[in-house]
Amino acid sequence: MSEAKTVLILGGGAGGIVAANTLRKLLPKQHRIVVIDQEDKHLFASSLLWVMIGMRRADQIARPLGRLNRKGIEFIQGHVEKINPEAKSVQVSGREFSGDAVIISLGADLVPENIPGLKESGRNIYTLDGANAIYRDLTAFQGGKIVILTANPVYKCPAAPYEAAMLVEYFCRKHGIRNKTEIALYAAEPGPMGTAGPEVSAAVRQMVESKGIKYYPTHQVTEIEPKLRRIVFAGGVTANFDLLFFVPPHRAPEVVKQAGLLGENGWGVVDRNTLQTKYQGIYAIGDVVAIPLKMGKPLPKAGVFAHAQAEVVARNIARQWTGHQWEASSFNGHGQCFIEIGDHRAGLGSGNFYAEPTPTVKIKAPGIAWHLLKILFEKYWLTRWF
Ligand SMILES: Cc1cc2nc3c(=O)[nH]c(=O)nc-3n(C[C@H](O)[C@H](O)[C@H](O)COP(=O)(O)OP(=O)(O)OC[C@H]3O[C@@H](n4cnc5c(N)ncnc54)[C@H](O)[C@@H]3O)c2cc1C
Repeated sequence: MSEAKTVLILGGGAGGIVAANTLRKLLPKQHRIVVIDQEDKHLFASSLLWVMIGMRRADQIARPLGRLNRKGIEFIQGHVEKINPEAKSVQVSGREFSGDAVIISLGADLVPENIPGLKESGRNIYTLDGANAIYRDLTAFQGGKIVILTANPVYKCPAAPYEAAMLVEYFCRKHGIRNKTEIALYAAEPGPMGTAGPEVSAAVRQMVESKGIKYYPTHQVTEIEPKLRRIVFAGGVTANFDLLFFVPPHRAPEVVKQAGLLGENGWGVVDRNTLQTKYQGIYAIGDVVAIPLKMGKPLPKAGVFAHAQAEVVARNIARQWTGHQWEASSFNGHGQCFIEIGDHRAGLGSGNFYAEPTPTVKIKAPGIAWHLLKILFEKYWLTRWF
């Protein structure tokens, strides 16, 4: 029997739970798999968009992380305060843990406070509290102007604010207030889903605009004036709103920065195929990293990539620890994403983001089938890993 080893998985989000489950499947029982998260629940984030319009309740899209214990994965709830990559050890709410490998999957921190007035003036599309509040706001809304805003061009799930705008439009239509409601999307980026290429970007823009949603790209918010219910953009342009739903600025968690694992762009640096950091046995996956692409932009932050990267890292660790002769795994940049447009319909974008010189991504026209597949995927996710 090989020597018992421990892998510490920091974060019980998309990347963390896939890594833990895959490792548990591949590693003999004597090896410890430990998942550490500050929350006691895992949230299927894609479904926040359905919570926003009342198609899901919070309890339908969350699972207790404690359930991992039943599978032989140890769950520890606590805040990761310090990572020591050289010693492969971490400090969690004052306790020390050390391992033989560490997988960092701590995601991106959301920092609405970086834009003056944003937090107090609107609702954060990317949190459960925000999605619940949006549903309350929409239910009480009698008509007026709704603004969807991206506060920075870099954010996870590049489709989400565009989906949010279309789902809000669908809600207003269904509830008989569409003719009294103006909907506008102000984006910091020059177009939707830019990394996926001009064809996908134009298609998503067309989906949004065909619903009568006004789209204003390249609008970088600088502050919100809460009393005036007014957004101020760089260059002095302003826009008023009655309801404001936003995607906040993101940044890498401070603890990863303190560990010296970030690059010049402010995100984690890893080998693009193995996800190993500059330290042997220390990996970083998912939203915390930014993998540069030849086209000049980083790989988008998305659950589909966190998932695939987690499997690669887990297989390679298991391969090393068990001495099995299976082939080394390599992350290949392939991914896909559903684009919800309302009316129980969705499109699908998919392709190879590692293709050079530019990603080769195609988009499938919206239909009921992709929406049903998204529902199936949600069910699969919440049962498969828990
Ligand atoms: C509204 C919305 C819709 C989305 N839709 C899609 C979609 O359709 N398709 C898609 O591919 N992606 C989608 N995403 C993006 C996807 O959810 C993320 O890319 C994915 O969750 C990233 O996985 P991760 O493991 O890197 O981070 P996360 O899933 O964010 O997990 C990070 C975990 O680390 C924990 N953590 C953070 N810091 C600490 C700390 N210091 N100590 C302890 N724990 C800590 C957090 O509590 C969290 O559980 C969507 C996201 C949102 C918000």
